Amino acid sequence: MNLRLGAALTTLVTVGVLTAATSPSAYAGRGAAPTVAAPAAVRAAVVDRVVIGYSVKHRPIVAYHLGEQGPGIPTMMIVSTMHGNERQIQKIPEALRDGRKIHGVDLWVVPVMNPDGLAADTRQNAHGVDLNRNFPTHWVHTTGHYGSGPKAASEPETRAMMSFLLKVKPERLISFHQPLHGVDVDSRRPAFSHKVSRALHLPVSHVKCGGVCGGTMTQWFEAHLPGTAITVEYGAHPASRTLRVQAPKALLRLFGGHR
Ligand SMILES: [Zn+2]
Repeated sequence: MNLRLGAALTTLVTVGVLTAATSPSAYAGRGAAPTVAAPAAVRAAVVDRVVIGYSVKHRPIVAYHLGEQGPGIPTMMIVSTMHGNERQIQKIPEALRDGRKIHGVDLWVVPVMNPDGLAADTRQNAHGVDLNRNFPTHWVHTTGHYGSGPKAASEPETRAMMSFLLKVKPERLISFHQPLHGVDVDSRRPAFSHKVSRALHLPVSHVKCGGVCGGTMTQWFEAHLPGTAITVEYGAHPASRTLRVQAPKALLRLFGGHR
């Protein structure tokens, strides 16, 4: 993983909250994106806890750094609850975070990208914007349930995620959602979708966006970074054991990691 700041990130720093640090761990004590002391309940797997930005209502958006870094070790990221009413799916990244130390993979998890939506039990953020229509790739202005916001990257949650992704540059990004059922195969590396499909016992599918399919995080990611980003939809009522045990274990194995 190359953690040096690129020209693109230098531009984004002006809209995001990340300061000009040279590594994620260097966020600590560097201005507006502090590392906050982990609560006692967070266990040995957590290497670092980083506030990557703040929501409209100033709730922190927290990323957890798990695993280890080193030559040949891949960098992966999992993001969930971008839609605040998809609250069960955060159990997958939480289970990864809350276990024993992880080896063999450099893993970041963002369990809740939309903390205001989670608090209000709404798909959208506190501005009524669907964050997965707000990214500045194929952005089109829409209103209503899938509202895009007044302009591309208008929302602080979107900008925080963009800055963070440009800094970490994960090789694979999985964006977890509900309530559809399947692994989106429309990505740069469909083979990865098939692997995830087998690991999670979900079918591959062409995830329907509901209305206009532009301005999504995965579209933006693949337009700006060399890695692969896929959407995984985990159904309306996945079993707790599936989310807390089966899926985290299977993902860890898929990423080449272990506890
Ligand atoms: Zn969703």
